[in-house]
Amino acid sequence: MPWLSQSSTNEVINRICDKIWLAVVQRTLRPGARLKEEELTEIFATTRARVRQALLILEQDGLVTITPNRGACIAEPSVEDAHDAFSARLAIEQRLVSRLCQTASAEDIRLLRDHIDQERKAHERGDNEAMIRLSGEFHMLIAKLSGAGLLLKILRMLTIRTSLITAMYQTQATQTCGPDEHDRILAAIEARDAQSASHEMAHHLHHLETALRLSDTPIPVSGLHEALATNLRKRPS
Ligand SMILES: [Zn+2]
Repeated sequence: MPWLSQSSTNEVINRICDKIWLAVVQRTLRPGARLKEEELTEIFATTRARVRQALLILEQDGLVTITPNRGACIAEPSVEDAHDAFSARLAIEQRLVSRLCQTASAEDIRLLRDHIDQERKAHERGDNEAMIRLSGEFHMLIAKLSGAGLLLKILRMLTIRTSLITAMYQTQATQTCGPDEHDRILAAIEARDAQSASHEMAHHLHHLETALRLSDTPIPVSGLHEALATNLRKRPS
């Protein structure tokens, strides 16, 4: 199950959340785009109530804003929000890797190694969707293995926000971390070197942040039906 789709026990609601998130990250659905309930009901062949629930979840996650007059739109985080989200991730993820250096079992290391192998394979076959998912999941896996329940929750929210921010401000067409920097983080965890793990994580997050053009004003573009319908046609589920 994708890491984003863990907000509801209802499969359809998870699917709506996941597809909208994916369309944002893949830049087919841009910040500011309106999410009309009626259209979504049609696209996902579901009830209005479920669409509403999905939109509320996405609002809590910071991916969507809901206003009384306009309804739901893809959120448009500011440059300030972008810096805030990355600095919060930095503090949390440095703590998580340091902790994991002390507690990681051989099984934990194997899970992280397998994950990076999957990332590498996705890169090799040019599977953009898998690369995007696996990139985010690596950070979630570190949080999960370090056993920090509270930080896992906060990090999930922050990662969803930074994926939106990256889609909005990035200079390249796709957003992924790349397996090499993840590999260096894992090597430091494996060596139980908390200082190095923390340093590698900081370097990695700094790299992600500097790949964004945070001084520029992003151009919001709409186009709900095309974005989601194309997305669904390409990836039937
Ligand atoms: Zn990463």
